[in-house]
Amino acid sequence: MLSGMLALKRLLLVLSIALGAAFLAAQTKVWTAQELFQRNVGSKEDQETAFPPHKIIGNIYYVGTRSLASFLVVTPEGNILIDSMYERTVPVIRKSVADLGFRFADTKIVLGSHAHADHMEGDAMIKELTGAKVMAMAEDVPALEKMMPGNKPHPIDRVLHDGDEVKLGGATLVAHLTPGHTRGCTTWSMKVQDGGRTYDVVIIGSMGVNAGTRLVNNPQVPDIADEYKRGFKVLRGLACDVPLGSHPAMYNLAEKYPKLGKGANPFIDPAGYKTEVDIEERAFLDVLREQTDAQQQKDAAAKK
Ligand SMILES: [Zn+2]
Repeated sequence: MLSGMLALKRLLLVLSIALGAAFLAAQTKVWTAQELFQRNVGSKEDQETAFPPHKIIGNIYYVGTRSLASFLVVTPEGNILIDSMYERTVPVIRKSVADLGFRFADTKIVLGSHAHADHMEGDAMIKELTGAKVMAMAEDVPALEKMMPGNKPHPIDRVLHDGDEVKLGGATLVAHLTPGHTRGCTTWSMKVQDGGRTYDVVIIGSMGVNAGTRLVNNPQVPDIADEYKRGFKVLRGLACDVPLGSHPAMYNLAEKYPKLGKGANPFIDPAGYKTEVDIEERAFLDVLREQTDAQQQKDAAAKK
């Protein structure tokens, strides 16, 4: 009997060690830049299908698709939209805003995460439909000016600089230049009140390294690697209780959403913010090392 108990104890010990190891392995999964890209963008269907619109925290709501985020900040003086997504997915945003009981026509300001079509192509259409003012980071303006769906010029009503504040109806969003992915990639921070407490919200612009990006000897952006490093430094300096991002996979929306309304707000996740920044930085550094090694080999071969 005693030896049976001992055997059981031993088995439990072995099991708990195995579980702990599996947990650690899951925590430290190393993502390649390409895997992160795929995780973020999903399939065409993911990009175009509405994710159930919902309140995230305070006055911030989700009105995006399964793989492209769009956030609505609701104020008594009208609303701020962050990321217009593709022009073809603007109707998804419009419907999600209406489904939440808000008026799309109350959209006063459109902000963006970065000058890629999946995040900011819809700016002109939203301005056309609502009269909203479009604001963009100075370093992204050249890229945005080339983004002209249906040949419409990209509207830019206010050019933003690092640290600028956008205010409406008591809400203040701060624009943080987190370059690399694009030159003007912007991470937004704001404070929200919820249940008598104040929370720091951070919407990560993007720190991904897309396939074909040259981090070494890049003639268009010679300092691109340093720009990425600056971006990571800025992200690490931000206080964050509620991490969000330009793709919902950056903050595990699919996993958190079912927990909404069942106890603590699942979007309060400061540890998740750090993990995401770690994951993205590791992937960036791996690509940088690969490309640096390849360049050194090339240089050495050229000297022979
Ligand atoms: Zn992008």
